[in-house]
Amino acid sequence: MKRIYLDNAASTPLTPEVVLAMQEALATYAGNPSSIHLEGRSARARIEESRKRLAKLLNASIGEIFFTSGGTEANNTAIKCAVRDLGVRRIISTAIEHHAVTHSIESMHREHGVEVVELALDSKGIINLNELEQLLSNSTTKTLVSIMHANNEIGNINPIDKIAQLCEQYQALLHTDAVQTVGHLPIDLQTFKVHFLSASAHKFHGPKGIGILFVRQGNTIRPLIDGGGQERNLRGGTESIHNIIGMAVAMESAIEEYTLRRTHIEYLKAYFITKLQELNPDIYINGDHENNLYTVLSVSFPPNPRAELLLLQLDISGISASGGSACTSGAEAVSHVLSGIRHPEDRKTIRFSFSHLNTIEEIDHVIRHLAPWFSIVIA
Ligand code: PLP
Repeated sequence: MKRIYLDNAASTPLTPEVVLAMQEALATYAGNPSSIHLEGRSARARIEESRKRLAKLLNASIGEIFFTSGGTEANNTAIKCAVRDLGVRRIISTAIEHHAVTHSIESMHREHGVEVVELALDSKGIINLNELEQLLSNSTTKTLVSIMHANNEIGNINPIDKIAQLCEQYQALLHTDAVQTVGHLPIDLQTFKVHFLSASAHKFHGPKGIGILFVRQGNTIRPLIDGGGQERNLRGGTESIHNIIGMAVAMESAIEEYTLRRTHIEYLKAYFITKLQELNPDIYINGDHENNLYTVLSVSFPPNPRAELLLLQLDISGISASGGSACTSGAEAVSHVLSGIRHPEDRKTIRFSFSHLNTIEEIDHVIRHLAPWFSIVIA
């Protein structure tokens, strides 16, 4: 049987239209987009056309869209440049942000003495807006709030609109890591009042190694990567034209097919949850069930002496899922997100994350594999 890929929060496969557009770009654009000859000018035109399409899809202006190497660089740039260029001396965030955010914040604390405040989280990973308001109202220190739109391990969607209202009221800057939501939820940057937003193409069936940093007009930051004056002086380096084109095509398809994809994935997820709970009522879902991203399902399994082998066993059986977020070492480390929500250490969590390419048959197959491990029905 074909492998079953349920790790779409880590990365998604390219869709055929993205592959075609990228192949065409690779074969066509030999010139450096900064060169003034025809080859350079035509490469430049395609980049700017893609930027225009992406800006339109996000309802931003062209001058607010900067291409980066992905979500990690976008997060680093937003946080580090807000400190260096916009006078930020305090950062309010949470313990369950992606490491590209938490480690950037830690380095701003270490290297620049920036005060760091972590909002408390309840056992579902939900923040308390009253605490945020109190922190913002009690201090005049220039503050950046950096809170992700949706969490990559447990899928919680944070109330960015309400957070943005508070930031506006108390004149704080707001950055949101929207790597898990851009291409999966409609985002209108005219009404979504963040100052900075990070996105990454490989999470919505685009290529790896390309992303977007949205910087709202009026927040002038200087480059983190020095070089030529590319990206209107914000990021040096010859643009990755095939990746930029691939990202624009991927986002266009994601938004065009949004309802269709979402309806299908929601159906798969609800079916999976029902089947899991039929297996064993002590299987539960981590995170905030009211505000959860439809693509992510974090499943907490009851204690089982062999649980450490479960992911490996699934992999051997042709099923790809993940213990938490994708881990660079390849080893399973304790997830800072699960620690952040105080997930019991004797239970095993597996994150299953879906795309529109998954099927009900695949879910049935996974359930059949999990049954011998967790079913309480004695055969
Ligand atoms: N932020 C979140 C929430 C993510 O899930 C990821 C990817 O795992 C990143 C940032 C990093 O993005 P990239 O892989 O494009 O650097």
